[in-house]
Amino acid sequence: MTNSKASQHTTAAPGFKIVCEICDGLGIVFDCAEDAPATTQIRCRHCGASRGTLGELRDLSASGQHDLFEI
Ligand SMILES: [Zn+2]
Repeated sequence: MTNSKASQHTTAAPGFKIVCEICDGLGIVFDCAEDAPATTQIRCRHCGASRGTLGELRDLSASGQHDLFEI
């Protein structure tokens, strides 16, 4: 019996906001390259509020939810 079910069934990564708390927008913007550090801040495309970090976004992408975003 292994108990190695990590956190692979979360609806959203803790910290990263799929929908902006301020304007309810889905669009995000970030000025970074593909190999940017995971600590890069990602902002709301509509109001500029912080939505989380690139690392958190990658966690979402890895779970197949990146199509939610209109980049
Ligand atoms: Zn916003």
